[in-house]
Amino acid sequence: MGALKLTALNKSFGAVAVLHDIHLEIADGEFVVFVGPSGCGKSTLLRIIAGLEDITSGGIEIGGRDVAALSPAERKIAMVFQSYALYPHMSVRKNLAFGLENLRFKRAEIDKRIAEAARMLAIEPYLDRKPKQLSGGQRQRVAIGRAIVREPDIFLFDEPLSNLDAALRVQTRAEITKLHRDIKTTMIYVTHDQVEAMTMADKIVVLRAGRIEQVGTPLELFDRPRNLFVAGFLGSPR
Ligand code: ADP
Ligand code: MG
Repeated sequence: MGALKLTALNKSFGAVAVLHDIHLEIADGEFVVFVGPSGCGKSTLLRIIAGLEDITSGGIEIGGRDVAALSPAERKIAMVFQSYALYPHMSVRKNLAFGLENLRFKRAEIDKRIAEAARMLAIEPYLDRKPKQLSGGQRQRVAIGRAIVREPDIFLFDEPLSNLDAALRVQTRAEITKLHRDIKTTMIYVTHDQVEAMTMADKIVVLRAGRIEQVGTPLELFDRPRNLFVAGFLGSPR
């Protein structure tokens, strides 16, 4: 269900081409990191996968089906943003429930999913607080919780740690890795941080100026970078 295939994908904003001939296959359950310098098209590619952005040309298949044939409810993708995007006037519990209520889930199912997510993320003590009463790290966990309760086939993370301090980044990184080990759902994680890419990924996709430079495991990219850009970016000796 969480497999993804991008074929000959191109994206322009007006006359400006920002993604060029992207071919990429992601297997169900993989943890894939998109890495590359600022402005190379990482967020645009993620937003396209989320269905938040149209493509100029190309094909997208999710779970072996063309996305054009999938209804929004069938396109089970949840995105975690860098800015958290929590509703400030709602409690944590309500923030977690809101999306499910809109999808007309039954109360008992909503409560069950919130309890599960809260346990997984250790945010039970904060369920009745408002976002502004939480630390940055706690807010980011709520944002992740809001994705978890949707039980998506694919999780998308866009630089989710960039607003956290260094110590909390390391901790939250480990928590996301653990979450992936626990639920084994496909995750696509965008970062411009090479260390994050090397430590978290099953597979790294290196982007540069809207093109894929190389795809491989952290070890493959470190040992056999295709060019100086990849070598330099990931810090390998070549
Ligand atoms: P990254 O996330 O890797 O920093 P982005 O995907 O945000 O890069 O941006 C890739 C390129 O597309 C940049 O040159 C950016 O200015 C441009 N871009 C992104 N969104 C838009 C938009 N809505 N309209 C016009 N240009 C955009
Ligand atoms: Mg970005």
